[in-house]
Amino acid sequence: MNISLEKTCSLLEAANNVVITAHVNPDGDAIGSSIGLGTFLEEQGKNVKIVICDKLPRNLSFLHGYDRIQRSGDAEAFKDVDLLVILDTDMSRIGNLNELAKNAKTLNIDHHISNDQKADYLYLAKSSATAEIIFDVISYMKAPISADVAMALYTGIATDTGFFKYSNTRSSTMMAGAKLIEAGASPNVVSEAIEEKPLEIVKGQIEALSTLEITSNGRVAGMFLDYPLTSSLESTEGFIDLIRVIEGVEVAVFVKSVEEKVCRVSMRSKGFDVSKIAMKLGGGGHIRAAGCTLYMPLQEAKTTVLKEISDALESAK
Ligand code: AMP
Ligand code: MN
Ligand code: MN
Repeated sequence: MNISLEKTCSLLEAANNVVITAHVNPDGDAIGSSIGLGTFLEEQGKNVKIVICDKLPRNLSFLHGYDRIQRSGDAEAFKDVDLLVILDTDMSRIGNLNELAKNAKTLNIDHHISNDQKADYLYLAKSSATAEIIFDVISYMKAPISADVAMALYTGIATDTGFFKYSNTRSSTMMAGAKLIEAGASPNVVSEAIEEKPLEIVKGQIEALSTLEITSNGRVAGMFLDYPLTSSLESTEGFIDLIRVIEGVEVAVFVKSVEEKVCRVSMRSKGFDVSKIAMKLGGGGHIRAAGCTLYMPLQEAKTTVLKEISDALESAK
């Protein structure tokens, strides 16, 4: 059921035992909005657990609250849960929490147009980031924002907006950023932590760039990482931005083989709707940033995704 901001706030206010989760392969928004909401609710006297069923990126460990994130849920943790809050995704990308929380009431707070609308309660907003929605929730409740909450929410907004530069940056986004700085967020601490990379990653970018292919008459740029290269790299966050900026490129695609027959696909565009392509391939996302997982070897994944992109560009002519 789609609900309003007001109803979202009253559900959160009424709950005492809350479990918060976010999508697998978590990014700054998934983790920032989870820690931000979790810390805030705890400050309001509630029992809160944060469970994200995947590896967490190490560069977000500067956030207070990072260490308390559980990597897997157990049935015990869900015994007396009043509310399972799912952030920055729908019910399809939260690992096995769906089964564990079978009897829990679910509140989904998200900003993806591809949301499957399966939660008991869904607050879906057109915000830049889920963290911006959490900022709206706290503001609506007229509650104070602590420095830890501010840092986490600022991080979520900054990562989803490319530090306030993508088209999802609206005046309300800047306004939220300003209020979060007033509440104690430090933009330089966030950007330094997120942008700093181990030397091996920078060297990995060189290898990744050597796989660059330009297709569809210069309109598509792709990088394709095989399993040995992918598994040698701790993170490939931001790799797609290396090719997104190429002049004339409308769609950038980054495919990495995370297992021999499992490839993760990321797409970026300058306005062309890549979420439709991702949805067709079983994934989702936003108009300008979307992704999917293909259960096939790298070469097949590459052919499949390039064909879908080329067909989509052709049929849009
Ligand atoms: P990424 O390229 O991983 O940064 O993801 C870009 C956007 O696409 C994000 O908003 C993701 O939530 C979404 N996305 C990525 N992979 C998937 C997937 N397998 N299913 C649904 N949405 C996805
Ligand atoms: Mn996300
Ligand atoms: Mn997000």
